[in-house]
Amino acid sequence: MTDAHKLDCESAAADCRFIIQSEDETEAIELARNHMKEVHGQEYTDEELQEEHLQVV
Ligand SMILES: [Zn+2]
Repeated sequence: MTDAHKLDCESAAADCRFIIQSEDETEAIELARNHMKEVHGQEYTDEELQEEHLQVV
């Protein structure tokens, strides 16, 4: 079974229900970074997203 990389935005922004799930970690980070920037106006580095926000499920 392949691991999936998941970002549950609710843990970062309480009122946001955005969820990303992808088997491709690079894609998950890319989508997460775009979402954080466009929706929340916050810039995260790949490392921050990877370490603090992405879960492996
Ligand atoms: Zn969000």
